[in-house]
Amino acid sequence: MTTVFWFRRDLRLGDNPALANAIEEALTTDGKKVVALFNIDAKVFDPASDKQKVYQNCSLTQLNKSLNGNLLIKSGAPEKVILEVAQKARATSVHISEDFEPYGRVRDDKVEAILKKNGIKLVRTGSPYAVSPLRVRKDDGTPYRVYTPFYRAWSAHGWRKPAVLPKEKPNWFLPMKSEALPQVAGEFEVINCGEEHALNIFEDFSKKGMRGYGENRNRPDLTGTSKLSFPLRFGEIHPRTILTQLGDSEDEETFRKEICWREFYADVLAHNPHSETISLNSTWEKMGWGNSKTHASELTKWKNGLTGYPIVDAGMRQLIETGWMHNRVRMIVGSFLVKDLHIHWREGAAWFMEHLIDGDIASNSHGWQWVAGCGTDAAPYFRIFNPITQALKFDPKGDYVRTWIKELSHITDGSVHEPWKHPLGHAHGYPEPMVDHATEREHALAMYEKIKKN
Ligand SMILES: Cc1cc2nc3c(=O)[nH]c(=O)nc-3n(C[C@H](O)[C@H](O)[C@H](O)COP(=O)(O)OP(=O)(O)OC[C@H]3O[C@@H](n4cnc5c(N)ncnc54)[C@H](O)[C@@H]3O)c2cc1C
Repeated sequence: MTTVFWFRRDLRLGDNPALANAIEEALTTDGKKVVALFNIDAKVFDPASDKQKVYQNCSLTQLNKSLNGNLLIKSGAPEKVILEVAQKARATSVHISEDFEPYGRVRDDKVEAILKKNGIKLVRTGSPYAVSPLRVRKDDGTPYRVYTPFYRAWSAHGWRKPAVLPKEKPNWFLPMKSEALPQVAGEFEVINCGEEHALNIFEDFSKKGMRGYGENRNRPDLTGTSKLSFPLRFGEIHPRTILTQLGDSEDEETFRKEICWREFYADVLAHNPHSETISLNSTWEKMGWGNSKTHASELTKWKNGLTGYPIVDAGMRQLIETGWMHNRVRMIVGSFLVKDLHIHWREGAAWFMEHLIDGDIASNSHGWQWVAGCGTDAAPYFRIFNPITQALKFDPKGDYVRTWIKELSHITDGSVHEPWKHPLGHAHGYPEPMVDHATEREHALAMYEKIKKN
């Protein structure tokens, strides 16, 4: 008998309880055969950003190496592919780590039903989270909608020790020829990826970056964050692997809290699948925000980093070039879109998903709603980021802005954040501010007052 392990957002061998389960089950049989499968599902693959596709190809290549070339890549609808592979391999079970995103849950239920009809079990073990979504609840059984009490309950719940694979190796088995990885257009390159690289990033960050993280994490001009979001997005490392190695220093506590934001948003999305695209607090949908039709030219300027506010434009250009943006800057550009340009957060979230390598529905949709003030907690609508004071505080010398905006590279100090005050601020084609922040702030507050009254 054979088992199938269906890789999805867990492109690693270590600390992978579902894989350990698939191997253990196979080892009880004569052939000890495990099929390691990755399905290219057009419904997931096509909408992904090109940069995400390139990263995934890199990660799958690394995974295939760790499996000695035994990764089976097969494209097609999962309901067909998983059954076909399982039948060809004469498998009695397919193992997965559970997906809690709206599409993944429906897909897995469909696959489970089809497998069951054919006498094959779908076995779910673990998830891409330290504590699986839907598990942490208030005493009355209802879900949390506020982060801090969730964090307390999540910490109290705790997590298992990292999973260890059985010592005995299974026979990796290819029941059919593997397909080539899909071609991705464009010139974007990923130099490093994969499980080993992820573990190295964490080790390096623990040694060199953790100390001071609490302060430095807000500074886009420094390398103050872990850059673990790509490995976490693709499951090259499990958050439990990270959490079990964290100590009790203040910086480590701050880092643990950041990992928990990811878990909190996954929990909120699992309870509220509609919140992928609709404000969690649906009253906010009546705000009268603009969209790609009503505000086409404003949206285009924002997307291309041509708003005339350097910190906003630097972030948007960093996103397009690298597929990543610093968290502080994500908040600043988000606030600018919703509260200065009065455009629906959904438009911003969609653009982020088109470009982010770490693009993750839960963290992205709820990160946006936090900024817009219509999501889980703490960020009241009237807290509006001022792009100039934020820039002066978190990029005091302007190094971050100069890295991404070549038209401003001749301004060598913090005055780069206000080019309109500088005699040569617009000398190399950098645009004038597209709106006046003070005026738009008042407009946003008036929109808010109106909705509050109604
Ligand atoms: C509008 C907006 C959209 C976002 N979209 C995404 C997204 O699609 N995918 C994504 O992974 N993160 C998203 N974030 C959260 C955050 O910006 C990134 O996780 C972070 O910038 C990744 O860099 P890092 O790994 O160096 O972070 P670090 O500061 O080193 O944090 C470590 C890890 O903690 C988690 N984390 C940190 N901050 C947050 C947060 N605010 N919300 C959820 N998880 C967090 C991430 O997994 C991150 O990798 C978004 C934030 C905002 C404001």
